[in-house]
Amino acid sequence: MATIILKSKEDIRIRRGHPWIYDNEIARVEGEPEPGGEVEVRDARGLHVGYAFFNPNSKIRARVYSRTAKKADEEFFVRAFEAAWKWRKFCFGEPAIERRLSLRLVYGEADSVPGLIVDGFVGATGTEGLWLSVQFLSLGVEMRKAEILKALRSVFNPDGIAERSDAPVRALEGLPESVGVLWGSVPERIVIEENGALFEIDLLGGQKTGWFLDQRANRAAAAKYVSRAQWADSPNKAIGARVLDMFCNQGGFSVLAAKAGAASVLAVDSSRDALALLRKNAALNSVSDRITIVEANAFDYLRDLEKMGQRFDLIILDPPAFAKNRAALESARRGYKELNLRAMHLLERGGVLVTFSCSHWFSPEMFDAVLADAAFDSNRRLHILEERTQDLDHPILSGYDESRYLKCRIVQVV
Ligand code: SAH
Repeated sequence: MATIILKSKEDIRIRRGHPWIYDNEIARVEGEPEPGGEVEVRDARGLHVGYAFFNPNSKIRARVYSRTAKKADEEFFVRAFEAAWKWRKFCFGEPAIERRLSLRLVYGEADSVPGLIVDGFVGATGTEGLWLSVQFLSLGVEMRKAEILKALRSVFNPDGIAERSDAPVRALEGLPESVGVLWGSVPERIVIEENGALFEIDLLGGQKTGWFLDQRANRAAAAKYVSRAQWADSPNKAIGARVLDMFCNQGGFSVLAAKAGAASVLAVDSSRDALALLRKNAALNSVSDRITIVEANAFDYLRDLEKMGQRFDLIILDPPAFAKNRAALESARRGYKELNLRAMHLLERGGVLVTFSCSHWFSPEMFDAVLADAAFDSNRRLHILEERTQDLDHPILSGYDESRYLKCRIVQVV
């Protein structure tokens, strides 16, 4: 097996849990590793660090998959998927699937399978079954598709497997996009149940893997403030909360807020396809009469709402990742600042803001600073009700900060 020898001290970050080895951290390569092949990683003194997938065409030259397992074969993946499943059962309870809980079953590096994302969607009444939506985001897992498919089938026994390898990070690994059915059959329409509501999702056509599973618990957390809207200085307290769901996608927050008794929900997104699904989801849950759907750019529309003198009791801001790398941090800061400032203007005093940042580059400290700045500029004070992150099926691996990506703050604006 070919060997990568790290430069002095570059093993420390790896030994502390970070699985990526960058090209500039390598002193030399011994032997001739195949692209995507297994390599042993050693420190500058020659001591064993782990085994990794090698990619000569990526800045992330190697991704560690194990300290001890040499070969990443079918048996390796079976063991990794079983361990990942055991963690989900620990977090969500033994009969998670029986309870129709759709879950992220494998979360890449945090589950020791670098670059592999597997979301498991459980069909509710009428569309019963289990379908997997999979992203192969590194050369190592791309080359082992056949073994991975066999292992997924033997551990999870799904009815069909969809591939959603259309993420931009594939290009950084030198891989083309690829979307389609990998195994079995994948229906056009699957209805899943989440937080007691029904959602129709589109595995092959929706954004990312078809549904944002990481927001499951945050959607429930946001919905519980709907019934507390009477705390806001709202002229229509008796009627119920007016909710604004910005970046609503298919309505995970909107539908739940409406079900929780919101008087009205204004759901805004720039994606027509996502809004078409939201329309169906509102109907599926019999809340269409209380959800108004608007296709618009969030920045422009927030400005328009302000001009129109609109007010809300609860606002959800769930934008896409603004900072995809370090260079984008300053423009991301400006984006988050503008969104949150405008939302604070639109909230009644005592209203609640549920605000997110999903770029791991944008640290919790930076996000909190943006919120504090926005509060200062809008002459408001913030009471922090909850500091949250992604749900537990997206585990956070200590030492690997990329897995600590989602920041959620629920604040009362007074
Ligand atoms: N809140 C959603 C997930 C949001 S993902 C949920 O619970 O599932 C981010 C969303 O922002 C996507 O649906 C995308 O279409 C939308 N989006 C991206 N840029 C936008 C913009 N400038 N204005 C409005 N929506 C935008």
